[in-house]
Amino acid sequence: MNDLWVQVAYLVASVLFVLGIRSLTKPDTARRGMQLAAVGMLIAVVGTLLLHEIVDYRWIMVGLIVGALLGYPMGMWVPMTAMPQRIALSHLFGSLAASLVGIAEYNTAMHVQHEPIASARMAALGLEVLFGSLTVTGSFMACGKLQGFVTERSVTYRGQNTVNISLFTLAVLMFVYLVVEPGAETVFYAMVVLATVLGVMMVLPIGGADMPVVLSLLNSYTGLSAAATGFALHNNVLIITGALDGASGFLLSVLMCKAMNRSFTNVLFGAFGAEVTAPTGAGAETAKLAVKSISVEDAAMQLAYARLVIIAPGYGMAVAQCQHEVRELSELIERRGGEVKFAIHPVAGRMPGHMNVLLAEVDIPYERLYGMEDINPEFSRADVALVIGANDVVNPAARNEPGSPIYGMPILDVDQAKSVIVLKRSMNPGFAGIENHLFYEAKTFMLFGNAKDSVAKLVAEIKNV
Ligand code: NDP
Repeated sequence: MNDLWVQVAYLVASVLFVLGIRSLTKPDTARRGMQLAAVGMLIAVVGTLLLHEIVDYRWIMVGLIVGALLGYPMGMWVPMTAMPQRIALSHLFGSLAASLVGIAEYNTAMHVQHEPIASARMAALGLEVLFGSLTVTGSFMACGKLQGFVTERSVTYRGQNTVNISLFTLAVLMFVYLVVEPGAETVFYAMVVLATVLGVMMVLPIGGADMPVVLSLLNSYTGLSAAATGFALHNNVLIITGALDGASGFLLSVLMCKAMNRSFTNVLFGAFGAEVTAPTGAGAETAKLAVKSISVEDAAMQLAYARLVIIAPGYGMAVAQCQHEVRELSELIERRGGEVKFAIHPVAGRMPGHMNVLLAEVDIPYERLYGMEDINPEFSRADVALVIGANDVVNPAARNEPGSPIYGMPILDVDQAKSVIVLKRSMNPGFAGIENHLFYEAKTFMLFGNAKDSVAKLVAEIKNV
Protein backbone atom coordinates (compact mmCIF):
# COMPACT_ATOMS: atom_id res chain seq x y z
CA MET A 1 0.00 0.00 0.00
CA ASN A 2 2.82 2.31 0.96
CA ASP A 3 4.48 1.76 -2.40
CA LEU A 4 1.34 2.86 -4.20
CA TRP A 5 1.36 6.15 -2.25
CA VAL A 6 5.04 6.59 -3.01
CA GLN A 7 4.37 6.25 -6.74
CA VAL A 8 1.41 8.68 -6.49
CA ALA A 9 3.65 11.14 -4.65
CA TYR A 10 6.32 10.78 -7.37
CA LEU A 11 3.74 11.33 -10.11
CA VAL A 12 2.36 14.48 -8.44
CA ALA A 13 5.92 15.74 -7.81
CA SER A 14 6.91 15.15 -11.45
CA VAL A 15 3.86 17.02 -12.74
CA LEU A 16 4.70 19.92 -10.41
CA PHE A 17 8.31 19.96 -11.69
CA VAL A 18 7.15 20.14 -15.29
CA LEU A 19 4.62 22.89 -14.49
CA GLY A 20 7.33 24.69 -12.48
CA ILE A 21 9.76 24.70 -15.40
CA ARG A 22 7.02 25.84 -17.72
CA SER A 23 6.21 28.77 -15.44
CA LEU A 24 9.89 29.69 -15.29
CA THR A 25 9.83 30.55 -18.98
CA LYS A 26 8.09 33.90 -18.28
CA PRO A 27 9.32 36.47 -15.76
CA ASP A 28 5.83 37.19 -14.39
CA THR A 29 5.14 33.52 -13.59
CA ALA A 30 8.70 32.60 -12.58
CA ARG A 31 8.12 33.04 -8.85
CA ARG A 32 5.10 30.72 -9.00
CA GLY A 33 7.22 28.26 -10.97
CA MET A 34 9.78 28.13 -8.18
CA GLN A 35 7.03 27.61 -5.61
CA LEU A 36 5.47 24.77 -7.63
CA ALA A 37 8.85 23.06 -8.00
CA ALA A 38 9.59 23.49 -4.28
CA VAL A 39 6.25 21.90 -3.32
CA GLY A 40 7.04 19.11 -5.83
CA MET A 41 10.39 18.52 -4.15
CA LEU A 42 8.77 18.39 -0.72
CA ILE A 43 6.25 15.80 -1.94
CA ALA A 44 9.06 13.76 -3.57
CA VAL A 45 11.10 13.80 -0.33
CA VAL A 46 8.09 12.81 1.81
CA GLY A 47 7.24 10.05 -0.68
CA THR A 48 10.80 8.74 -0.52
CA LEU A 49 10.71 8.70 3.27
CA LEU A 50 7.73 6.32 3.04
CA LEU A 51 9.71 3.72 1.05
CA HIS A 52 9.53 0.31 2.70
CA GLU A 53 13.28 -0.26 2.12
CA ILE A 54 14.04 2.32 4.82
CA VAL A 55 14.63 0.46 8.08
CA ASP A 56 16.37 3.18 10.07
CA TYR A 57 15.76 6.94 9.92
CA ARG A 58 18.70 8.06 12.05
CA TRP A 59 21.21 8.77 9.26
CA ILE A 60 18.45 10.30 7.16
CA MET A 61 17.72 12.74 9.99
CA VAL A 62 21.43 13.60 10.23
CA GLY A 63 21.45 14.25 6.47
CA LEU A 64 18.33 16.43 6.70
CA ILE A 65 19.82 18.51 9.52
CA VAL A 66 23.21 18.95 7.80
CA GLY A 67 21.45 19.79 4.52
CA ALA A 68 19.20 22.36 6.19
CA LEU A 69 22.13 23.91 8.06
CA LEU A 70 24.06 24.31 4.80
CA GLY A 71 21.11 25.13 2.56
CA TYR A 72 19.39 27.81 4.63
CA PRO A 73 22.35 30.24 4.76
CA MET A 74 23.11 29.52 1.08
CA GLY A 75 19.55 30.42 0.14
CA MET A 76 19.07 33.37 2.47
CA TRP A 77 22.38 35.18 2.77
CA VAL A 78 24.45 34.58 -0.34
CA PRO A 79 24.22 37.88 -2.26
CA MET A 80 22.71 37.97 -5.74
CA THR A 81 26.10 38.88 -7.20
CA ALA A 82 27.55 35.60 -5.91
CA MET A 83 24.69 33.52 -7.33
CA PRO A 84 26.74 31.76 -10.07
CA GLN A 85 29.24 30.44 -7.49
CA ARG A 86 26.35 29.37 -5.29
CA ILE A 87 24.75 27.55 -8.21
CA ALA A 88 28.08 25.85 -8.95
CA LEU A 89 28.11 24.69 -5.31
CA SER A 90 24.59 23.29 -5.69
CA HIS A 91 25.76 21.30 -8.72
CA LEU A 92 28.74 20.13 -6.70
CA PHE A 93 26.56 18.83 -3.87
CA GLY A 94 24.02 17.25 -6.25
CA SER A 95 26.65 15.41 -8.25
CA LEU A 96 28.59 14.43 -5.10
CA ALA A 97 25.41 12.81 -3.77
CA ALA A 98 24.87 10.95 -7.07
CA SER A 99 28.51 9.77 -7.20
CA LEU A 100 28.49 8.58 -3.59
CA VAL A 101 25.21 6.72 -4.10
CA GLY A 102 26.69 5.08 -7.21
CA ILE A 103 29.87 4.04 -5.38
CA ALA A 104 27.86 2.77 -2.40
CA GLU A 105 25.54 0.75 -4.67
CA TYR A 106 28.50 -0.80 -6.50
CA ASN A 107 30.25 -1.61 -3.26
CA THR A 108 27.10 -3.11 -1.73
CA ALA A 109 26.49 -5.32 -4.76
CA MET A 110 30.11 -6.50 -4.81
CA HIS A 111 30.84 -6.99 -1.10
CA VAL A 112 27.54 -7.17 0.80
CA GLN A 113 25.09 -8.85 -1.56
CA HIS A 114 27.85 -10.74 -3.44
CA GLU A 115 25.64 -10.83 -6.49
CA PRO A 116 26.69 -10.29 -10.11
CA ILE A 117 25.75 -6.84 -11.44
CA ALA A 118 23.72 -6.98 -14.65
CA SER A 119 25.19 -5.04 -17.57
CA ALA A 120 22.22 -2.66 -17.79
CA ARG A 121 22.53 -1.79 -14.09
CA MET A 122 26.29 -1.39 -14.50
CA ALA A 123 25.70 1.01 -17.40
CA ALA A 124 23.46 3.15 -15.15
CA LEU A 125 25.94 3.02 -12.26
CA GLY A 126 28.84 3.79 -14.60
CA LEU A 127 27.14 6.84 -16.13
CA GLU A 128 26.14 7.99 -12.66
CA VAL A 129 29.68 8.01 -11.26
CA LEU A 130 31.27 9.15 -14.53
CA PHE A 131 29.11 12.27 -14.93
CA GLY A 132 28.80 12.72 -11.16
CA SER A 133 32.55 12.70 -10.37
CA LEU A 134 33.36 14.86 -13.38
CA THR A 135 30.78 17.42 -12.25
CA VAL A 136 32.01 17.44 -8.63
CA THR A 137 35.49 18.69 -9.54
CA GLY A 138 34.27 20.69 -12.56
CA SER A 139 31.81 22.58 -10.34
CA PHE A 140 34.46 23.12 -7.68
CA MET A 141 36.74 24.66 -10.31
CA ALA A 142 33.90 26.80 -11.71
CA CYS A 143 33.01 28.01 -8.21
CA GLY A 144 36.69 28.78 -7.56
CA LYS A 145 37.06 30.72 -10.80
CA LEU A 146 33.93 32.76 -10.15
CA GLN A 147 34.80 33.39 -6.51
CA GLY A 148 38.43 34.13 -7.37
CA PHE A 149 40.23 31.43 -5.36
CA VAL A 150 41.19 29.73 -8.63
CA THR A 151 42.51 31.92 -11.46
CA GLU A 152 39.54 33.23 -13.40
CA ARG A 153 41.53 33.35 -16.64
CA SER A 154 41.67 30.34 -18.88
CA VAL A 155 44.71 28.15 -18.27
CA THR A 156 46.05 26.67 -21.47
CA TYR A 157 49.06 24.67 -22.58
CA ARG A 158 50.21 23.08 -25.80
CA GLY A 159 48.29 19.93 -26.69
CA GLN A 160 45.58 20.60 -24.10
CA ASN A 161 42.68 19.52 -26.28
CA THR A 162 44.52 16.28 -27.19
CA VAL A 163 45.12 15.53 -23.50
CA ASN A 164 41.48 16.25 -22.59
CA ILE A 165 40.04 14.24 -25.46
CA SER A 166 42.41 11.33 -24.66
CA LEU A 167 41.35 11.36 -20.99
CA PHE A 168 37.70 11.45 -21.99
CA THR A 169 38.17 8.58 -24.47
CA LEU A 170 39.97 6.52 -21.81
CA ALA A 171 37.11 7.13 -19.36
CA VAL A 172 34.56 6.06 -21.98
CA LEU A 173 36.60 2.90 -22.76
CA MET A 174 36.68 2.05 -19.06
CA PHE A 175 32.93 2.55 -18.91
CA VAL A 176 32.38 0.21 -21.87
CA TYR A 177 34.72 -2.38 -20.31
CA LEU A 178 32.73 -2.23 -17.07
CA VAL A 179 29.44 -2.78 -18.86
CA VAL A 180 30.91 -5.97 -20.33
CA GLU A 181 32.85 -6.92 -17.18
CA PRO A 182 30.99 -5.37 -14.18
CA GLY A 183 33.16 -7.20 -11.65
CA ALA A 184 36.33 -5.30 -12.64
CA GLU A 185 36.50 -3.32 -9.40
CA THR A 186 39.87 -1.68 -10.10
CA VAL A 187 38.60 -0.34 -13.41
CA PHE A 188 35.52 1.07 -11.64
CA TYR A 189 37.55 3.03 -9.11
CA ALA A 190 40.12 4.06 -11.73
CA MET A 191 37.23 5.47 -13.78
CA VAL A 192 36.02 7.48 -10.76
CA VAL A 193 39.51 8.97 -10.28
CA LEU A 194 39.89 9.68 -13.99
CA ALA A 195 36.50 11.43 -14.11
CA THR A 196 37.46 13.71 -11.18
CA VAL A 197 40.71 14.64 -12.96
CA LEU A 198 38.76 15.23 -16.18
CA GLY A 199 36.42 17.66 -14.37
CA VAL A 200 39.41 19.84 -13.42
CA MET A 201 41.04 19.60 -16.83
CA MET A 202 37.82 20.47 -18.67
CA VAL A 203 37.12 23.67 -16.74
CA LEU A 204 40.75 24.90 -16.55
CA PRO A 205 40.87 26.30 -20.11
CA ILE A 206 37.52 28.05 -19.79
CA GLY A 207 37.39 31.56 -18.43
CA GLY A 208 36.14 35.07 -18.97
CA ALA A 209 32.70 35.49 -20.42
CA ASP A 210 32.27 31.77 -21.13
CA MET A 211 31.69 30.82 -17.50
CA PRO A 212 27.87 31.02 -17.74
CA VAL A 213 27.86 28.38 -20.47
CA VAL A 214 30.05 26.09 -18.37
CA LEU A 215 27.72 26.49 -15.42
CA SER A 216 24.66 25.49 -17.40
CA LEU A 217 26.58 22.59 -18.94
CA LEU A 218 27.55 21.36 -15.47
CA ASN A 219 23.89 21.71 -14.56
CA SER A 220 23.11 19.39 -17.43
CA TYR A 221 25.74 16.84 -16.28
CA THR A 222 24.28 16.87 -12.75
CA GLY A 223 20.90 16.07 -14.28
CA LEU A 224 22.27 13.21 -16.37
CA SER A 225 24.00 11.80 -13.31
CA ALA A 226 20.75 12.03 -11.30
CA ALA A 227 18.79 10.33 -14.10
CA ALA A 228 21.36 7.50 -14.17
CA THR A 229 20.98 7.23 -10.36
CA GLY A 230 17.25 6.85 -10.93
CA PHE A 231 17.84 3.93 -13.32
CA ALA A 232 20.29 2.32 -10.90
CA LEU A 233 17.90 2.64 -7.94
CA HIS A 234 14.70 2.05 -9.98
CA ASN A 235 13.46 5.42 -8.76
CA ASN A 236 11.07 7.07 -11.22
CA VAL A 237 11.13 10.58 -9.80
CA LEU A 238 14.92 10.69 -10.02
CA ILE A 239 14.79 9.60 -13.66
CA ILE A 240 12.23 12.29 -14.47
CA THR A 241 13.90 15.14 -12.54
CA GLY A 242 17.33 14.12 -13.81
CA ALA A 243 16.09 14.12 -17.39
CA LEU A 244 14.39 17.51 -16.91
CA ASP A 245 17.53 18.95 -15.34
CA GLY A 246 19.82 17.44 -17.95
CA ALA A 247 17.73 18.62 -20.89
CA SER A 248 17.05 22.12 -19.53
CA GLY A 249 20.73 22.62 -18.63
CA PHE A 250 21.76 21.56 -22.11
CA LEU A 251 19.18 23.80 -23.81
CA LEU A 252 20.24 26.74 -21.64
CA SER A 253 23.88 26.17 -22.64
CA VAL A 254 22.89 26.16 -26.32
CA LEU A 255 20.80 29.34 -25.89
CA MET A 256 23.63 31.12 -24.09
CA CYS A 257 26.11 30.12 -26.79
CA LYS A 258 23.66 31.56 -29.30
CA ALA A 259 23.37 34.77 -27.26
CA MET A 260 27.15 35.11 -27.33
CA ASN A 261 27.35 34.04 -30.97
CA ARG A 262 29.74 31.23 -30.11
CA SER A 263 29.58 27.57 -30.96
CA PHE A 264 29.48 24.93 -28.29
CA THR A 265 32.80 23.39 -29.33
CA ASN A 266 34.37 26.83 -29.44
CA VAL A 267 33.36 27.45 -25.83
CA LEU A 268 34.64 24.05 -24.65
CA PHE A 269 37.83 23.95 -26.68
CA GLY A 270 38.43 27.56 -27.75
CA ALA A 271 39.98 28.78 -24.45
CA PHE A 272 38.10 32.06 -24.42
CA GLY A 273 39.89 34.75 -22.45
CA ALA A 274 43.34 33.15 -22.76
CA GLU A 275 44.79 36.04 -24.62
CA VAL A 276 43.35 38.88 -22.58
CA THR A 277 45.86 39.01 -19.74
CA ALA A 278 47.72 41.84 -21.49
CA PRO A 279 46.00 44.72 -23.26
CA THR A 280 45.57 44.17 -26.97
CA GLY A 281 47.09 46.58 -29.49
CA ALA A 282 43.80 48.40 -29.77
CA GLY A 283 43.59 48.58 -26.00
CA ALA A 284 47.05 50.09 -25.75
CA GLU A 285 46.01 52.78 -28.24
CA THR A 286 43.10 53.78 -26.07
CA ALA A 287 45.52 54.50 -23.21
CA LYS A 288 46.48 57.62 -25.16
CA LEU A 289 42.87 58.73 -25.49
CA ALA A 290 41.05 60.61 -22.80
CA VAL A 291 37.64 60.01 -21.38
CA LYS A 292 35.18 62.82 -20.67
CA SER A 293 33.72 63.02 -17.18
CA ILE A 294 30.33 64.59 -16.72
CA SER A 295 28.96 66.32 -13.66
CA VAL A 296 25.74 65.13 -12.00
CA GLU A 297 24.11 68.45 -12.95
CA ASP A 298 24.90 68.07 -16.67
CA ALA A 299 23.90 64.41 -16.74
CA ALA A 300 20.63 65.25 -14.96
CA MET A 301 19.95 68.00 -17.50
CA GLN A 302 20.38 65.56 -20.43
CA LEU A 303 18.10 62.99 -18.80
CA ALA A 304 15.46 65.50 -17.76
CA TYR A 305 14.96 66.79 -21.29
CA ALA A 306 15.39 63.52 -23.20
CA ARG A 307 12.41 62.17 -25.10
CA LEU A 308 13.69 58.60 -25.09
CA VAL A 309 16.14 57.22 -22.51
CA ILE A 310 17.30 53.62 -22.82
CA ILE A 311 18.79 52.21 -19.64
CA ALA A 312 21.35 49.41 -20.14
CA PRO A 313 21.98 47.80 -16.75
CA GLY A 314 24.83 45.39 -16.02
CA TYR A 315 26.71 43.67 -13.25
CA GLY A 316 27.52 47.03 -11.55
CA MET A 317 23.82 47.63 -10.91
CA ALA A 318 23.74 44.31 -9.05
CA VAL A 319 26.86 45.20 -7.05
CA ALA A 320 25.54 48.64 -6.16
CA GLN A 321 22.03 47.26 -5.50
CA CYS A 322 20.65 50.46 -6.95
CA GLN A 323 17.56 49.01 -8.61
CA HIS A 324 15.25 51.03 -6.31
CA GLU A 325 16.97 54.27 -7.27
CA VAL A 326 16.87 53.23 -10.93
CA ARG A 327 13.12 52.76 -10.73
CA GLU A 328 12.74 56.16 -9.08
CA LEU A 329 14.87 57.72 -11.82
CA SER A 330 12.83 56.11 -14.59
CA GLU A 331 9.54 57.22 -13.01
CA LEU A 332 10.86 60.74 -12.62
CA ILE A 333 11.87 60.97 -16.27
CA GLU A 334 8.49 59.65 -17.31
CA ARG A 335 6.62 62.09 -15.11
CA ARG A 336 8.47 64.82 -17.01
CA GLY A 337 7.17 63.42 -20.30
CA GLY A 338 10.13 61.30 -21.39
CA GLU A 339 9.97 57.63 -22.30
CA VAL A 340 12.20 55.05 -20.58
CA LYS A 341 13.02 51.57 -21.85
CA PHE A 342 15.28 48.96 -20.30
CA ALA A 343 17.70 47.06 -22.54
CA ILE A 344 18.39 43.56 -21.24
CA HIS A 345 21.38 41.61 -22.53
CA PRO A 346 21.08 37.83 -22.00
CA VAL A 347 24.43 37.56 -20.19
CA ALA A 348 24.40 40.90 -18.35
CA GLY A 349 25.27 40.43 -14.69
CA ARG A 350 26.46 37.11 -13.43
CA MET A 351 23.59 34.72 -14.09
CA PRO A 352 20.94 34.26 -16.76
CA GLY A 353 18.06 36.62 -16.08
CA HIS A 354 20.07 38.56 -13.45
CA MET A 355 18.84 41.96 -14.62
CA ASN A 356 15.24 40.74 -14.99
CA VAL A 357 15.28 39.53 -11.40
CA LEU A 358 16.67 42.81 -10.02
CA LEU A 359 14.23 44.96 -11.97
CA ALA A 360 11.29 42.68 -11.15
CA GLU A 361 12.23 43.01 -7.47
CA VAL A 362 11.35 46.73 -7.66
CA ASP A 363 8.20 46.14 -9.72
CA ILE A 364 9.40 47.59 -13.00
CA PRO A 365 6.75 46.27 -15.43
CA TYR A 366 7.98 43.42 -17.64
CA GLU A 367 6.77 45.18 -20.74
CA ARG A 368 9.39 47.89 -20.13
CA LEU A 369 12.18 45.29 -20.40
CA TYR A 370 13.36 44.69 -23.96
CA GLY A 371 15.53 41.86 -25.25
CA MET A 372 18.56 42.64 -27.38
CA GLU A 373 16.90 42.07 -30.77
CA ASP A 374 13.97 44.32 -29.88
CA ILE A 375 15.90 47.19 -28.34
CA ASN A 376 18.92 47.46 -30.65
CA PRO A 377 17.00 49.13 -33.52
CA GLU A 378 15.68 51.69 -30.98
CA PHE A 379 19.06 53.05 -29.85
CA SER A 380 19.46 55.35 -32.86
CA ARG A 381 16.21 57.04 -31.77
CA ALA A 382 17.32 57.40 -28.14
CA ASP A 383 18.50 60.79 -26.87
CA VAL A 384 20.42 59.16 -24.04
CA ALA A 385 21.66 55.62 -23.46
CA LEU A 386 22.26 55.34 -19.71
CA VAL A 387 24.71 52.53 -19.01
CA ILE A 388 24.50 51.50 -15.36
CA GLY A 389 27.39 49.22 -14.39
CA ALA A 390 27.49 47.40 -17.73
CA ASN A 391 30.73 46.97 -19.62
CA ASP A 392 31.28 43.78 -21.69
CA VAL A 393 27.69 43.71 -22.93
CA VAL A 394 28.03 47.21 -24.42
CA ASN A 395 31.59 46.85 -25.71
CA PRO A 396 31.70 47.70 -29.46
CA ALA A 397 34.90 45.61 -29.78
CA ALA A 398 32.49 42.69 -30.13
CA ARG A 399 31.41 44.26 -33.45
CA ASN A 400 34.51 46.08 -34.64
CA GLU A 401 37.68 44.29 -33.52
CA PRO A 402 38.17 40.87 -35.12
CA GLY A 403 41.12 40.24 -32.76
CA SER A 404 39.09 40.84 -29.62
CA PRO A 405 38.20 37.83 -27.47
CA ILE A 406 34.56 38.93 -27.45
CA TYR A 407 34.44 39.52 -31.22
CA GLY A 408 31.16 38.19 -32.60
CA MET A 409 29.23 38.36 -29.32
CA PRO A 410 26.01 40.31 -29.93
CA ILE A 411 25.97 43.45 -27.76
CA LEU A 412 23.59 46.24 -26.85
CA ASP A 413 24.20 48.95 -29.46
CA VAL A 414 24.31 51.81 -26.94
CA ASP A 415 26.88 53.62 -29.07
CA GLN A 416 24.13 54.26 -31.64
CA ALA A 417 22.31 56.60 -29.22
CA LYS A 418 22.73 60.36 -29.58
CA SER A 419 24.46 60.54 -26.21
CA VAL A 420 25.83 57.87 -23.88
CA ILE A 421 26.21 58.31 -20.11
CA VAL A 422 28.17 55.57 -18.35
CA LEU A 423 27.91 55.05 -14.59
CA LYS A 424 30.88 53.17 -13.12
CA ARG A 425 33.48 53.70 -10.40
CA SER A 426 36.73 53.64 -12.36
CA MET A 427 38.21 52.65 -15.70
CA ASN A 428 38.48 49.03 -14.57
CA PRO A 429 37.46 46.46 -17.18
CA GLY A 430 34.46 44.15 -16.86
CA PHE A 431 34.35 40.38 -16.46
CA ALA A 432 36.16 39.61 -19.74
CA GLY A 433 39.06 41.85 -18.62
CA ILE A 434 39.27 43.87 -21.81
CA GLU A 435 39.39 47.53 -22.78
CA ASN A 436 36.14 49.21 -23.85
CA HIS A 437 36.39 51.82 -26.63
CA LEU A 438 32.87 53.02 -25.95
CA PHE A 439 34.19 55.02 -22.99
CA TYR A 440 36.50 57.04 -25.27
CA GLU A 441 33.94 57.95 -27.92
CA ALA A 442 33.06 61.59 -28.51
CA LYS A 443 29.43 61.12 -27.50
CA THR A 444 30.25 59.19 -24.30
CA PHE A 445 30.28 60.85 -20.87
CA MET A 446 31.50 59.07 -17.75
CA LEU A 447 29.78 59.67 -14.43
CA PHE A 448 32.26 58.11 -12.02
CA GLY A 449 31.17 56.78 -8.63
CA ASN A 450 29.20 54.02 -7.01
CA ALA A 451 26.09 53.59 -9.17
CA LYS A 452 23.79 53.78 -6.13
CA ASP A 453 25.15 57.22 -5.16
CA SER A 454 25.23 58.44 -8.74
CA VAL A 455 21.63 57.44 -9.50
CA ALA A 456 20.43 58.90 -6.17
CA LYS A 457 22.20 62.18 -6.98
CA LEU A 458 20.68 62.20 -10.48
CA VAL A 459 17.21 61.74 -8.97
CA ALA A 460 17.77 64.60 -6.52
CA GLU A 461 19.12 66.84 -9.27
CA ILE A 462 16.35 66.12 -11.79
CA LYS A 463 13.81 67.06 -9.12
CA ASN A 464 15.40 70.53 -9.13
CA VAL A 465 15.51 70.95 -12.90
P1 NDP B 1 30.86 43.55 -16.62
O1 NDP B 1 31.37 42.55 -15.64
O2 NDP B 1 31.40 43.50 -18.00
O3 NDP B 1 31.11 45.03 -16.08
C1 NDP B 1 30.56 45.45 -14.89
C2 NDP B 1 31.00 46.88 -14.67
O4 NDP B 1 30.31 47.34 -13.53
C3 NDP B 1 32.48 46.99 -14.39
O5 NDP B 1 33.13 47.62 -15.46
C4 NDP B 1 32.56 47.78 -13.09
O6 NDP B 1 33.43 48.90 -13.28
C5 NDP B 1 31.14 48.27 -12.87
N1 NDP B 1 30.77 48.26 -11.46
C6 NDP B 1 30.98 47.30 -10.55
N2 NDP B 1 30.50 47.67 -9.37
C7 NDP B 1 29.97 48.90 -9.52
C8 NDP B 1 29.32 49.81 -8.66
N3 NDP B 1 29.13 49.55 -7.37
N4 NDP B 1 28.90 50.99 -9.16
C9 NDP B 1 29.10 51.28 -10.47
N5 NDP B 1 29.71 50.46 -11.33
C10 NDP B 1 30.13 49.27 -10.86
O7 NDP B 1 29.28 43.41 -16.60
P2 NDP B 1 28.25 43.19 -17.78
O8 NDP B 1 26.94 43.01 -17.10
O9 NDP B 1 28.39 44.22 -18.83
O10 NDP B 1 28.70 41.83 -18.45
C11 NDP B 1 28.57 40.59 -17.78
C12 NDP B 1 29.83 39.78 -17.96
O11 NDP B 1 29.80 38.70 -17.03
C13 NDP B 1 29.91 39.19 -19.34
O12 NDP B 1 31.26 39.12 -19.74
C14 NDP B 1 29.33 37.78 -19.12
O13 NDP B 1 29.72 36.85 -20.08
C15 NDP B 1 29.90 37.46 -17.76
N6 NDP B 1 29.15 36.46 -17.02
C16 NDP B 1 27.80 36.44 -17.12
C17 NDP B 1 27.09 35.48 -16.45
C18 NDP B 1 25.62 35.40 -16.66
O14 NDP B 1 25.06 34.31 -16.58
N7 NDP B 1 24.97 36.53 -16.91
C19 NDP B 1 27.75 34.50 -15.52
C20 NDP B 1 29.19 34.67 -15.43
C21 NDP B 1 29.83 35.62 -16.18
P3 NDP B 1 34.12 49.62 -12.03
O15 NDP B 1 34.84 48.56 -11.28
O16 NDP B 1 35.02 50.63 -12.67
O17 NDP B 1 33.03 50.25 -11.24
